[in-house]
Amino acid sequence: MSEMKAAVMNTYKRQPIAFVRGEGAWLFDSRSEKYLDALSGISVCSIGHANPDVTQALSEQAGTLIHTSNLYRIPLQETLAEKLCDVSGMNKVFFCNSGAEANEAAIKICRRHTANRGIKNPLIVVMAGGFHGRTLATLSATGNPKVREGFDPLVQGFVRIPYGDAQALRRLAGERHDIVAVMLEPVLGEGGIVIPPKGYLREVRDLCDENGWLMVLDEIQSGMARTGRWFAWQHEETRPDIMTLAKALGNGIPIGACLAAGHCAEIFTPGNHGSTFGGNPFAARAGIAVLDYIERHDLLARAKILGERMLSGFKEALGMTPGVKEIRGLGLMLGIELDRDCGDLVSRALQEHLLINVTAGNVVRLLPPLIISDAEAELIVQRTVASIKAFLSGG
Ligand SMILES: *Cc1c(COP(=O)(O)O)cnc(C)c1O
Repeated sequence: MSEMKAAVMNTYKRQPIAFVRGEGAWLFDSRSEKYLDALSGISVCSIGHANPDVTQALSEQAGTLIHTSNLYRIPLQETLAEKLCDVSGMNKVFFCNSGAEANEAAIKICRRHTANRGIKNPLIVVMAGGFHGRTLATLSATGNPKVREGFDPLVQGFVRIPYGDAQALRRLAGERHDIVAVMLEPVLGEGGIVIPPKGYLREVRDLCDENGWLMVLDEIQSGMARTGRWFAWQHEETRPDIMTLAKALGNGIPIGACLAAGHCAEIFTPGNHGSTFGGNPFAARAGIAVLDYIERHDLLARAKILGERMLSGFKEALGMTPGVKEIRGLGLMLGIELDRDCGDLVSRALQEHLLINVTAGNVVRLLPPLIISDAEAELIVQRTVASIKAFLSGG
């Protein structure tokens, strides 16, 4: 393949491969070689590449109306908002175009809520290992120091504690009196597929209630049926005040959403926030098609069953393998932690015609489409196991 075009800024370490076509869980390069996609463009194309329902909806919408402006009513946006509220129990939605923007909206709601209560220097509690995006506020909220390095001065007003540790949050409540919100992922995605202890989110909710804090959940990677529920927090009896979505919401069409409940849903008024593209007819149509597809094909149940099956497949094949530290999963968010950095595994897997990812240095991350067949799930397990074994034996 030709050299990477020098006109593209050097922000990604890219694999030397380009895909020209997709179908379900498969991607094809220009020589028609097919690759099994166990990453879904990082939790984006959850209902498969070139999903026929999405393709039809978008073709129709592209030929009808792509954009008007949020200066006018957008019925498709209203419909998508209602559907999202139905499946989440939240009350109102602000639409934007990405995950970072959804989190920016969430942070702005927390700040404004605070201003209304007269707190001068509000703090939002965030988590070590957490990831919230690359804009200045969201990278300031992100745990990984590499994401923040070189971008001083950072946005102030974040305090960081260990993830999954309710005691640490309880201690902080006694020490700081300027906290207004706790912002976290229900499962750490970029942080290495870390699933918190059972009951943790419920405890965070209780601490928020006791202290008058807002609970903000970043469901950008874990949401939209990926873990076997619409949203990962629904595995526990709890509900956030604010929740953010993006990634799988448009199956590849850029769309983000910030959902709020109760009085948080009423905080923004005209002039407080906005987005030119946010929730335009085209993007909203994509979101509606995705929600309808997930519902009609019962992909929540499917993600749960397949996730359990793949997790036990991995445990059976790799549980006793030296070099494999832990195998974790919730629905189709799967992580295999090795005892060493394993970035090279990605190109090893590419040789097996399998697309996976490594995050947090030593965690093999799988986020396959929710529409995979039993056979495809089995094939992902086989190829991943083969790649890991080859990698660990230095092959
Ligand atoms: C991907 C991701 C983001 C950032 O989303 P962008 O669309 O890249 O801005 C934020 N939070 C989590 C948990 C993510 O996985």
